[in-house]
Amino acid sequence: MRYSESWDHDHCEFCWAKFAEEILIPDSLHEGYATADNYRWICEACFEDFKDQFGWRLIEDRGETAG
Ligand SMILES: [Zn+2]
Repeated sequence: MRYSESWDHDHCEFCWAKFAEEILIPDSLHEGYATADNYRWICEACFEDFKDQFGWRLIEDRGETAG
């Protein structure tokens, strides 16, 4: 989920939980849900809380590879 060389961590849009690589921040979240443009991150708990309210849907992983 690294999207730039300067990427360090992101936060959940709702509860501000921290997402980061485990080697960097061991007690952070390591996965969550991103918007289609990968700009906003949402943790699993908030996704569950708000998905109905916002009508979010999971997008199938199309098996894209970088490059
Ligand atoms: Zn959250």
